[in-house]
Amino acid sequence: MFSLIARWWQERIIRRSTVTGQQWQLAFARLPLLNRLTKDEKARLTRLAILFLHEKSLEGARGLELTSEMKLTIALQACLPVLNLGLDWYRGWVSVIVYPAQFIPERNFVDEFGVEHSARSVLSGESWHRGPVILSWEGARLSGVIDGYNLVIHEFAHKLDVLNGDANGFPPLHRNMDVSQWVTALTEAYNDFQNRLNTWNDVPIDSYAAASPAEFFAVFSEVFFERPDILNHYYPAVYEQFKQFYRQDPIVRLPD
Ligand SMILES: [Zn+2]
Repeated sequence: MFSLIARWWQERIIRRSTVTGQQWQLAFARLPLLNRLTKDEKARLTRLAILFLHEKSLEGARGLELTSEMKLTIALQACLPVLNLGLDWYRGWVSVIVYPAQFIPERNFVDEFGVEHSARSVLSGESWHRGPVILSWEGARLSGVIDGYNLVIHEFAHKLDVLNGDANGFPPLHRNMDVSQWVTALTEAYNDFQNRLNTWNDVPIDSYAAASPAEFFAVFSEVFFERPDILNHYYPAVYEQFKQFYRQDPIVRLPD
């Protein structure tokens, strides 16, 4: 019964959306990453984005006026990781705060979970446990262009990570997943990634992934969606685990 009501309510929100077909088309056109989705996936992503914009509060900070175009750009990318998981995976918080560009002076700091953040995340985005997601528009605007970097996916991956407590690269896994396989795949890849950095034998993945297991999960999630070919080439075991976790197989979306 409850799910019927929830479903009816969701349909009502989607029906009442004031975003026009043309606005959606423009938003998709600005995000080449999403062009790889099937028609059905695009339709489901659109529905999720409407519900996301209804449930979450997106606010500009430092004088930034958020246009509906900007909101769609953020919502569509934010919803991609949960396309086959559902919005419930973003439960427990409401705000997305968007700064124009750099919003915290350049410095390293250690957050409440003992995670050290350096220039990149400090300057472009943060994702706090139960707190708001903080993004820079500059970073969000440059995301979704298939270069392997995606600030929006990065920050929302942190939100999935902290669903079961600390930010440690260990989100709640599905029942059919094997915890030891996850731990083995990610630990081996994390160690290998750090070794490669130390021996100048690095892979085409942002070195920020070496900062901590939490950043490793967030950065590798960016690569999973943006450049699944790279992730699968260097770390096939991680790709396989992410495929099971996100319930998506982005590599099949790549052109032949
Ligand atoms: Zn991060």
